[in-house]
Amino acid sequence: MEKFDVIVVGAGTAGCLAAKTLAEKGLKTCLVENKNKELIGDKICGDALGEHHLKTLGLEKPKGGELETRIEGIRIFSPNEETVFTIAHEDFVGYLLNRKLFGQWLLRKAIDEGVTLLDSTKFLNPVIREGFISGVIIKDSDGLRVKLESEAVVDASGFLGMVRRKLPEAMNIEQIIENDDVEACYREVRQLKQETENTKYCDIYLNQKVTPGGYTWIFPKPGAQVNVGLGVCMSKKFPNPKTQLYNHILNRPMFKESTLLTGGAWFDPTRRPLDNMVGNGVVITGDAASLVNPIHGGGIGPSMLSGFYAGNVISEALEQGKPTQAALWNYNKLYMSSYGKKQASLDIFRLFLIKSSDSDLNYGMHCKLLTEDDILKAGLGDEFHLNISEKAKRVFRGIKRMRFLNKLRVTIKMMRELQTHYDTYPKTPEKFDEWRLETKALIKDARSKLID
Ligand SMILES: Cc1cc2nc3c(=O)[nH]c(=O)nc-3n(C[C@H](O)[C@H](O)[C@H](O)COP(=O)(O)OP(=O)(O)OC[C@H]3O[C@@H](n4cnc5c(N)ncnc54)[C@H](O)[C@@H]3O)c2cc1C
Repeated sequence: MEKFDVIVVGAGTAGCLAAKTLAEKGLKTCLVENKNKELIGDKICGDALGEHHLKTLGLEKPKGGELETRIEGIRIFSPNEETVFTIAHEDFVGYLLNRKLFGQWLLRKAIDEGVTLLDSTKFLNPVIREGFISGVIIKDSDGLRVKLESEAVVDASGFLGMVRRKLPEAMNIEQIIENDDVEACYREVRQLKQETENTKYCDIYLNQKVTPGGYTWIFPKPGAQVNVGLGVCMSKKFPNPKTQLYNHILNRPMFKESTLLTGGAWFDPTRRPLDNMVGNGVVITGDAASLVNPIHGGGIGPSMLSGFYAGNVISEALEQGKPTQAALWNYNKLYMSSYGKKQASLDIFRLFLIKSSDSDLNYGMHCKLLTEDDILKAGLGDEFHLNISEKAKRVFRGIKRMRFLNKLRVTIKMMRELQTHYDTYPKTPEKFDEWRLETKALIKDARSKLID
């Protein structure tokens, strides 16, 4: 039986970064992936990536066609499309990726560092010994059940969290992600008859009738192609996203005589990060840990960041001895104090958006209750205050929408409170239960004020 230092399950963006980082540290690393090698990177996605994510990770810009279109920022359209917020700032500059080439580029980086790739190989179960994850059971490319041993396992299996779901309860890692915290998405890449007038911005359309609790995107690709899709919150009786796209979006003039190049549906977990993402011998990364921006659903950046942190923390833990939950705890701390606290506060803003009516959003954007600058600050995780002008207050009083305005005020206050709470994320597991109780209380309070 072959033995590795670390086994990474899933060769997506999280898994490749984790494997690459582990191998760079000299660890014998195995990457287990269900797909055939040639298909790695081929993912149903909006394909947008902020440039700052590459900078944060010290990754150079790939030059082999992985970055297809340079994006100057995003445009957000109000439900009636009369108001457009244009957010052009260096932190919103990015690229539309050739997703498959980008995935292959990341994979190559891992393999070049010495990672062993087992493709066409399915993870079945974790090996659990005395409360430790000490390997995996796989179905190999010949269909045989095989046991692989390791000191630690990384779950980078994406939304389904294949390892996470099978961990012992004592590890205190959430196994179930509520439907209310997931977007069901459908997206297509389409060839247009002619180039769109917009080749620089990622366009986002808010509309509760078309995309309850979500949004539609139309992102430009080269050669008169677009990546177009939408997501809806999977709460209660939600509409079929493909039907919504066909009935409400693809009937726009720009899609006249367009052709389908590729299409498909998948899920995006748009909530705060799992409260705890480590156990004895195991670290959960990327979508498997719900590490996605709750507002725009972008998860490529945070998944790579989590893979990078996982690689570093596991290597430090192994240097010092056994990768116990306590030894791996710094992974939680690192993620929560960087992207996690912003993600959690944006989860509150998501709750606010879910229950806002189209007319509230139309008025709110028209009267600039929130400005482009506020959205930019929220997107960057900076603190912002609500500067409601007297004029806006008069308008909202006049149209009897003070409730909406007050809800916005409450939302921003709760976003700040949650960020402050995340600054106190415990340094060791001992204080975790106490911290989690407080987190749950804050989220429950937000839900009761904004949703129920
Ligand atoms: C429609 C849609 C649009 C999106 N648009 C964007 C966007 O524009 N920008 C952005 O940043 N993010 C976007 N996201 C989110 C982004 O795609 C994810 O957050 C990101 O890909 C997560 O990476 P990951 O490595 O965690 O998971 P994944 O990329 O899902 O990788 C998981 C890997 O694990 C493998 N695997 C699963 N089960 C097993 C098993 N049992 N055994 C072995 N291998 C297994 C899978 O085959 C896969 O290769 C979008 C998501 C969706 C659904």
